[in-house]
Amino acid sequence: MSTRAFIGLGSNLDQPAEQLQSALQALDLMADTRLAAASAFYTSDSLLPGQPRYTNAVAAIDTTLAPLDLLDALQAIENDQGRVRKERWGPRTLDLDVLLFGDQVIDVPRLKVPHYHMHARPFVLYPLAELVPADFRLADGRVLQQLLQACPFVGLERL
Ligand code: ATP
Ligand code: MG
Ligand code: MG
Repeated sequence: MSTRAFIGLGSNLDQPAEQLQSALQALDLMADTRLAAASAFYTSDSLLPGQPRYTNAVAAIDTTLAPLDLLDALQAIENDQGRVRKERWGPRTLDLDVLLFGDQVIDVPRLKVPHYHMHARPFVLYPLAELVPADFRLADGRVLQQLLQACPFVGLERL
């Protein structure tokens, strides 16, 4: 059975918009997965000083992969697109995070879903809102419209 999952995409190195386009193609080509929809791209300043501006988007996928197999596949795409892991939250060619995986709440060391910080990130919530119904709830019951109201559209530019 296939599960609708939402993936957060982010890049702030080596032509971020092209990195996101390539990542969307890679998501569609991923085994046992199809790309269902993608949001617009949004840019915003890095949360950490001294880093280039970020480009972010959210993708909806339908997949029959198990959650940890999906995470493996996402990390393989990050690596293919030249991600080098140095310090935490360092600049990166591509970040692919599992925001939501159907109605599942997952809490194992490698994977926490819903993504632990998505509620505070306008560059996640506003693109996600493009892809879901107005009354959408996260798997843990939080109401997306309420999260949006608590997370103003500040510093975001929709491309
Ligand atoms: P943040 O999690 O704050 O967005 P980040 O995306 O830069 O930071 P990464 O370096 O990409 O962090 O990932 C660090 C680790 O987070 C990964 O090795 C992965 O196992 C773990 N992780 C936990 N939950 C998730 C999730 N929902 N999606 C992706 N990775 C996750
Ligand atoms: Mg991230
Ligand atoms: Mg990540």
